[in-house]
Amino acid sequence: MRQLPFFCRGEVVKGFGRGSKELGVPTANFSEQVVESFPSDIPTGIYYGWACVGNGDVHKMVLSIGWNPFYKNTKKSVETHIINTFKEDFYGEILSVAIIGFIRSEKNFNSLEALISAIQEDIEEAKRLLDLPEHLKLKDNFFHLPKEKIVNH
Ligand code: ADP
Ligand code: MG
Repeated sequence: MRQLPFFCRGEVVKGFGRGSKELGVPTANFSEQVVESFPSDIPTGIYYGWACVGNGDVHKMVLSIGWNPFYKNTKKSVETHIINTFKEDFYGEILSVAIIGFIRSEKNFNSLEALISAIQEDIEEAKRLLDLPEHLKLKDNFFHLPKEKIVNH
């Protein structure tokens, strides 16, 4: 996909509250403004890559680009599930993501169980792919700039 890798940084905002946390997969949502900075022709679906919150450690992530029901599916939403257990929520913090590859297109599921198992498979696939040397290389390139080099807050 010619848009990838795609690098993005923005504030974590409140999502639609679709209960991702209850499914065991909280997703940190980017604001509408940040979503609008994405290439408009980027396909909806599930992607994988690297993510970090504030100046924290870099973790593996899966990211969904989907149609946002809040806007009657006329606008996209971008949500990141970081493959790490955090002690606390991080609304309002700056999330940095490096989107590296595509896993699958957006789909509908017949049951909650089917949805949860698809998400678990996506997570396993992301973990496996991100261990490839060419992906590990990308891990450090985008993250942890010295403070004085960050000019565009
Ligand atoms: P919302 O609808 O507000 O996005 P979610 O149920 O999707 O609610 O939960 C998302 C929030 O959970 C994030 O904004 C973040 O503050 C918190 N969170 C905790 N752990 C994670 C994680 N591993 N990945 C993403 N978000 C997490
Ligand atoms: Mg969410």
